[in-house]
Amino acid sequence: MNIEIKYTQIFINNEWHKANNGKTFSVINPSTGEEICQVEEASEVDVNKAVEVARKAFNINSPWRKLEPATRGSLIRKFASLLRRDIDYLSKLETLNNGKPLEESKGDINLSADCMDYYAGWVDKITGETIPSGHDSFIYTRHEPIGICGQIIPWNYPIMMLAWKLGPALACGNVIILKPAEQTPLTALYCAALIKEAGFPPGVVNILPGDGPICGNAIATHKHIDKIAFTGSVEIGKKIQIAAAQSNLKRVSLELGGKSPLIICEDADLDFAVNLAHRAIFTNAAQNCTAGSRTFVHTKIYDAFIARSIELTKKRIVGNPFDPHTKQGPQINDSQFKKILNYIELGKKDGAKLEYGGEQVGDKGYFIQPTIFSDVQDHMKIAREEIFGPVMSILKFDSYDEVIERANDTCFGLGAGVITKDLTRSLTFAQQLQAGSVWINDYDVVCNQAPFGGYKQSGHGRELGRYGLEEYYEVKTVVIKLI
Ligand code: ADP
Repeated sequence: MNIEIKYTQIFINNEWHKANNGKTFSVINPSTGEEICQVEEASEVDVNKAVEVARKAFNINSPWRKLEPATRGSLIRKFASLLRRDIDYLSKLETLNNGKPLEESKGDINLSADCMDYYAGWVDKITGETIPSGHDSFIYTRHEPIGICGQIIPWNYPIMMLAWKLGPALACGNVIILKPAEQTPLTALYCAALIKEAGFPPGVVNILPGDGPICGNAIATHKHIDKIAFTGSVEIGKKIQIAAAQSNLKRVSLELGGKSPLIICEDADLDFAVNLAHRAIFTNAAQNCTAGSRTFVHTKIYDAFIARSIELTKKRIVGNPFDPHTKQGPQINDSQFKKILNYIELGKKDGAKLEYGGEQVGDKGYFIQPTIFSDVQDHMKIAREEIFGPVMSILKFDSYDEVIERANDTCFGLGAGVITKDLTRSLTFAQQLQAGSVWINDYDVVCNQAPFGGYKQSGHGRELGRYGLEEYYEVKTVVIKLI
């Protein structure tokens, strides 16, 4: 695929900049392991520069602050329409850089444009309250933008994570310094050009490609960044929270990992359950924080479920993500690739039964066979730790009370699924599972209008929906004495 790379520099104040220290980094095509291009690498000095212009853009008399809400909404909508206009190019760029099948890149971009439109609709509906008080006073609240928002995003859904972050922050009137993942900066930089074309004033959205420990850390520790929103690993999430506390107590929202259970009850239609469980784990090459990575299957249907899952998984086409028949592209990079193969070895060593897969596909790029383990026990590493790779771990259960306890016995709490036709059982699971999203007879349905986020170490704060806005405004109480 010969795809022109148009933007490789740092986007600050609606202009393109080279890195202050002259450094660039290599962006790799995960399908081949070869370099696509070099991108300018932002460091602390560049972050400082972005903070300076963002502060100006957020000045109380700036063009951005004085925009009427409806006009702000139009800018966000315009950006959404530009995403749709350029979907052919942008989806190819996403697939080149991330490795996901082209159709999935297109799906992500459509959802991202919808997300921006959804939040554009909120701009003139972010209202405070009037609050009853004494007869001679009047109290009301205002929901005000927080200020400069640092946003650090991962590589698994590069455009969609950008939209989830920009949408609510812009709707509330904030200004932004966003760092895409170092593995996947290309579509974010193209989106920067669309931000400018849409007509956002300079300094409102700044996009800085760079490394986590340098550029990301400079954002997390900056004294004049007012909020940080992060999606990524638990390990880095904890660092971000510490950095935020130690620098200036900036507001923090975190969307972190998961080890989500999918519970398949004995009354489930077997084909339906097999297909759903397959999709729950293998979508996006299982590089999905909500991946259904613990498949609990009732003992009565356990053997049949395994047999049919193997049958289905054998048919999964792994390979070139530009080929329309491909269902699964490569893992993102060499270190993830090795980490996943290592987990597969651990699974075997710990005594789980390898039913299918477990090997690299081809001899270049980072492709791994969709893999199935059965007889997985709760204590095994493959049942406890986030693999972020195409490994289905099947666990057997025979009592519903027991499986709820086992499903909840994890430090994570992002998603959970249940397949059953029994209404009471489904509602009981919905009440008792400790997860930010519970899907009954479905999995990983994420809607722009419904909140998404984690219990426990899967993070805090919510993205999407009305709740997503709450992470991006301060509440001011105004008290007036009627004299
Ligand atoms: P993953 O393991 O999926 O790559 P990470 O949590 O390491 O997830 O990365 C998610 C995002 O966090 C990326 O944009 C990465 O550059 C950034 N990041 C990594 N380390 C740090 C850090 N120390 N401070 C701030 N951001 C970081």
